[in-house]
Amino acid sequence: MFCPFCRHAESRVVDSRATEDGYSIRRRRQCSSCGRRFTTIETASLSVVKRSGVAEPFSRSKIISGVSKACQGRPVSEDDLAMLAQEVEETIRAEGRAEVDAHQVGLAILRPLRRLDQVAYLRFASVYQGFETLEDFEDAIKALRENPETTLPPHQRTLSAT
Ligand SMILES: [Zn+2]
Repeated sequence: MFCPFCRHAESRVVDSRATEDGYSIRRRRQCSSCGRRFTTIETASLSVVKRSGVAEPFSRSKIISGVSKACQGRPVSEDDLAMLAQEVEETIRAEGRAEVDAHQVGLAILRPLRRLDQVAYLRFASVYQGFETLEDFEDAIKALRENPETTLPPHQRTLSAT
């Protein structure tokens, strides 16, 4: 890539280290022409394809803003949400694909959210899985009671929200 100062095309890497979460590499580069240094960040590409077909880069902050609505008034801290988002990213990246459906992201959210807070989980699942009747809630609550440790979503209907 070009030097941001003089647009020269060549630079050498003077330092290279993984970021804290291990999903990116930060490289310190020195321009071979002007000698100035700049930083690049290298991350494996990961896109989320929405139901509309539009792909956008995976973003932890989007996960957090989506889940935090379901967590309003619940004893869930910002750290909890950050850890949940990290777990979601790890789950998705472990599949090793460059593109995932929004649907898979939602499933990856349900599992850790269920562990974190069952009320928030029910709220999120009711929107994400399109609960329509009280029976849908009853089924989900029953599944929570029967299998508090189960990580599978209790409700397998076709999803209607992104
Ligand atoms: Zn330069």
